[in-house]
Amino acid sequence: MPVYKAPLRDVKFLMHELLDAPAQLAKMPFYAENDTADGDLMNQVLEEAARFVEGELLPLNAVGDQEGCVRHDDGSVTTPTGFKAAYNKYRAAGWTALDADPAFGGQGMPHLVSNVLVEMMNSTNVAWSMYPGLSHGAYSALHAVGSEELKAIYLPKIVSGEWTGTMCLTEPHAGTDLGIIRTKATANADGSYAISGTKIFISAGEHDLTPNIVHLVLARLEGSPEGTKGISLFLVPKFLVNEDGSIGERNGVVCGSLEHKMGIHGNATALLNFDGATGYLVGEINKGMNHMFIMMNAARLGTGLQGLGIGETAYQNALAYAKDRTQMRHEPRVNPAENADPIIVHPDVRRMLLTGKAYTEAGRAMAMWLALSIDTEHHHPDEAARKEAADLVALLTPIAKAFMTDNGFNIAVQSQQVFGGHGYIREWGMEQYVRDARIGQIYEGTNGIQSLDLLGRKVLMDGGKKLQKLAATLQTFIEENEGDDDLASMLDQLGKAANQLGSLTMVVGQKAMSGPEGADEVNAVAVDYLRFFGHVVYGYLWARMAKIAHAKIAAGQDRDGFYLAKVQTAQFYFAKLFPETKALAATIKAGNESLAVDDRMFGLERALVGA
Ligand SMILES: Cc1cc2nc3c(=O)[nH]c(=O)nc-3n(C[C@H](O)[C@H](O)[C@H](O)COP(=O)(O)OP(=O)(O)OC[C@H]3O[C@@H](n4cnc5c(N)ncnc54)[C@H](O)[C@@H]3O)c2cc1C
Repeated sequence: MPVYKAPLRDVKFLMHELLDAPAQLAKMPFYAENDTADGDLMNQVLEEAARFVEGELLPLNAVGDQEGCVRHDDGSVTTPTGFKAAYNKYRAAGWTALDADPAFGGQGMPHLVSNVLVEMMNSTNVAWSMYPGLSHGAYSALHAVGSEELKAIYLPKIVSGEWTGTMCLTEPHAGTDLGIIRTKATANADGSYAISGTKIFISAGEHDLTPNIVHLVLARLEGSPEGTKGISLFLVPKFLVNEDGSIGERNGVVCGSLEHKMGIHGNATALLNFDGATGYLVGEINKGMNHMFIMMNAARLGTGLQGLGIGETAYQNALAYAKDRTQMRHEPRVNPAENADPIIVHPDVRRMLLTGKAYTEAGRAMAMWLALSIDTEHHHPDEAARKEAADLVALLTPIAKAFMTDNGFNIAVQSQQVFGGHGYIREWGMEQYVRDARIGQIYEGTNGIQSLDLLGRKVLMDGGKKLQKLAATLQTFIEENEGDDDLASMLDQLGKAANQLGSLTMVVGQKAMSGPEGADEVNAVAVDYLRFFGHVVYGYLWARMAKIAHAKIAAGQDRDGFYLAKVQTAQFYFAKLFPETKALAATIKAGNESLAVDDRMFGLERALVGA
């Protein structure tokens, strides 16, 4: 069975030494008043979280994969053995309420802490973690824009975990393009709405973990404008709720089928038929897409954390295997008395392991920085600080989603490679990580769409303002550390790449404005641009981590080699991974030209794009 130990040492390093989080959070009255910004308390909560995921979720990961979910003729769904018992323990321990608003029964812990919990849950059982994960997204949207009445009825149940939530956007003909959804809403005389239509691929859409499920559904109100401007958000419970809060009549929403899919078998991916189901408007009419984005932003970071979590656990397993497995001989010999040495001595195996470690630790640093920025955005008393944090969150969210899931999948594959043929065999668990990691690149908006969001919306449409702010933060760090010999080479590479990010943005921006083909120019390079940007962010974080680590080593405070490992992983990152930016710069500059090929190449009779 795969092994996993929560990376608490690294988490504490990031929380206390890189981010100085307790001091930052103490500036926010919400956390100070709720007494939840205390560093020791955050440590204890995460230690407890580690015990839960290692003890309860990890043993169910393979069970969930092998059993999957089962739909019965009446549309009900049974989750794999042990899922419900683990969910009940999770609820009973209060984890569903961790970072929720105390006004609705939450514990008011910082988002920073729940972010680490989610990473650990994803490391141990990504399919199971999606049940509470989707609820959290529903909570965020309802909390932000729901009416007081809806909040009073539904939020305490979601926060306590008594009921779970879902996010119902996708339809058979409408995935990326939600502007063309057909699900209809018709006003009822009592102020509610009748919702009819079919939603597909709904994660956690039907299950036996809780007696009720709260679906948040995008639908078009009769007479609304075409496209995204005519979409509204509705809350549709599986069971209607009586006035006293108890569960009432069955509502008109039924699971028509479950998808058979590549991975995350333990999570029910449901087709839901809404047949005149009673729904309640959430927020304003025709503002559904804006409201759904609240949920989607939370879900995008959550998806990024799936990539991070799977990457961490895949790396840990590859490391354990590489120390144990002996193959071939290395000079000098490690086991002169044996006929083979452990594979960890071979440089190519080290390359695979260090790739996993370097991406994972930088990803964790970015995710925690982003989570602390979300706390700042919501709770800092100073408006300028809130705005600055909001800008950073907007810029980093698509990177967190796409860069972390791309890297997570690659780490899963490389870690499987460390196992050789045994990685392909089910009993070792590595092939499950590969299958489970793949979906992160696809849902919550494909990584291609995340890249367009970053380059098109967050950078170009904003006139580069958010990018410039981040570039200024990097520049300040580089200038402050000029003359530091330990960091010189990293800062040189980082400074050049950060400048190049600016110039590449200008090049793409100019092409984008050059005529009708401008949009294609952005589309053609967005994925490479996001990857380039991701490296700049990780490079910045590795340089900062290396600086702290060097200081600790110089002060004689590196008893267990933790800080030396940070320095050497940073050096590996800049030597072996960061140079990918050079190739990416070339492909970004190459633009759309080589893609606008003669369409006969694709068997098309008429040119759709190329000539
Ligand atoms: C296991 C699973 C769970 C899911 N869970 C949920 C859920 O809980 N709720 C929910 O609502 N949905 C869910 N989804 C749906 C998921 O979010 C969509 O599959 C995803 O957004 C992509 O939509 P699509 O599959 O229709 O692909 P399409 O939109 O058809 O896209 C196909 C390809 O075209 C590309 N493409 C499309 N438009 C452009 C463009 N303008 N420029 C460049 N490339 C473009 C895409 O990037 C993609 O590569 C889930 C899907 C799966 C498989």
